[in-house]
This record gives sequence, structure tokens and C-alpha cells, in this order.
Amino acid sequence: MKRVLVTGGGSGIGRGLAQAFADAGHAVTITGRRADALAETATGRDMTCITADVCDEAAIDALFEQPFDIVVANAGMGRAAPLTDVSLDDWNQTLAVNLTGTFLTFRGALRTMKAGGRLIAIASTAGLQGGPRIGAYCASKHGVIGLVRSVAQEVAKKGITCNAVCPGFVETDMATAAVAFVMQARGVDEARATQMVVSGNPMGRMIDVDEVVSAALYLASDGASSINGHALSVSGGEI
Ligand code: NAP
Repeated sequence: MKRVLVTGGGSGIGRGLAQAFADAGHAVTITGRRADALAETATGRDMTCITADVCDEAAIDALFEQPFDIVVANAGMGRAAPLTDVSLDDWNQTLAVNLTGTFLTFRGALRTMKAGGRLIAIASTAGLQGGPRIGAYCASKHGVIGLVRSVAQEVAKKGITCNAVCPGFVETDMATAAVAFVMQARGVDEARATQMVVSGNPMGRMIDVDEVVSAALYLASDGASSINGHALSVSGGEI
């Protein structure tokens, strides 16, 4: 049994990850800002729920008094907008949650993590390529990939690995918001907006949460011990 931490465990990909690690017999801790969402993830399973903002340095540091074996920096946010409409507050918040949040999570984890440990960031295909109207999100996720590649080299001799999972559009609240944005910006119905959102995926569909979870479970497995500094695209061939 391993100790697993998943940030942003109250919904979407984080919920899928937390439940899969718990079902595999691990001791799972989940964090997020909404206690009710965390409790819903943990319903019927033995999990520790801790309310914490991923940007709160003291709260994140406090998570790591006891070492975790597997740490997934999953908490994230994104708002679509052309760059001229991105306020400085929006820019700062996106970088704070996605990039600084991953930094704080990994830094805290590494202070106590032992050999065999696994750091995994849920980045995005937006960490590997640009796209219109996602400048802040894209910049933050490119930053996450840079951080992962750098940390991977720093921890390599300690028997710890650091990798990223890079999904395309995944069927969660975040993708629903992207569809809503396209409906409003382009004046199209939901079916057309969904089609436009998934058009970057050669498979022409949303990625399923379970497909992202499988990739993370692999990177967390003993068999992935020499996969380090990798950005694993889960995008139907978009990357
Ligand atoms: P989601 O359902 O909106 O989940 C995001 C989670 O992050 C929420 O549980 C939220 O919990 C948490 N979070 C946001 N801000 C936070 C903060 N300041 N402090 C702590 N927790 C915070 O969306 P998702 O799709 O599962 O996203 C999970 C990750 O996958 C994100 O990093 C996202 O960028 C990445 N991703 C998503 C897609 C996609 O299409 N869905 C594609 C590629 C990558 P609280 O609100 O309770 O804090």
C-alpha cells in the first residue's frame, strides 16, 4: 500500500485518479477548496480529505509532514479568451494555480519523498503546443512541462521520477466550460461547439477521464521506474 496525494481531487480527472488509486488499495489523500466536492469523491471509500488552496504555501507545505509515495499535481483552471481580453488578474491567477501550484506541490513532496517516489503533473496538450484564445493557460502548462523536465533531472539519482500527462480535451467541467465558450463566441449550438472543440483530436472525440487515469497509473507503477522527464500525450494523436 502506498501513500498517494491527488490535488484537485474533488472533480473530473482528480476524482477519477483518487478513486482509482483507492480501488487499487492505496491510502489516498485528496485536496481542493470545496469540502463538499472532496467528500463526494470519497463517498464509499476510505480517503483523507483536506481542504487547501493549491496556491497557499503554508497549507501545501503542511501536507508533507509525512512522506507520500505518489504525488499527482492535478489541480488546475483555465479560461478561454483572446489575449487582448485577458486581465492581469486572470493571467496571474492562471499561472498561480497551474504553475505555482505544481511548484509548491512538488517542492513540498520532495522534501520528504523517498526512493521509488513518483511525481506526476496533469499538464495538457496545451503544454506542448500553442492554441488560439488560451494564451495564459498555454503559458502555464508549458511552464509545468519545463518544471517537470527540470525536476526529473534533479531527482534522477534519488530513484524518484517526475513526469507529465498531457491530455487533449477531456470530458469534465473544464471541457464543458470550453464548449459553452465556443457556443457563445461563435453563436453555434452545443453539438457544433463540441465538434469544434474536439476537432483537434484526430479521433474526433473527447478523451475519457479513465484514459487519463490509466496513463497516470502507469507512470506511478513500479514498471515505469525509468520513465523520467516524459510528457505523455493522451490526445488521440493530436500530438
Ligand atoms: P475540473 O473538474 O475543473 O477540476 C479541477 C480541479 O482543480 C477541481 O477539483 C478544483 O477543486 C481544483 N482547483 C482549481 N483551483 C484550485 C485551487 N486554487 N486550489 C486547489 N484546487 C483547485 O477539471 P479537470 O478537467 O478535471 O482538470 C484537472 C486537470 O486536468 C487540470 O490541471 C487541467 O488543466 C487538466 N486538463 C484538463 C483537460 C480537460 O479538457 N478537461 C485537458 C487537459 C488538461 P476546487 O474548485 O474544489 O478547488
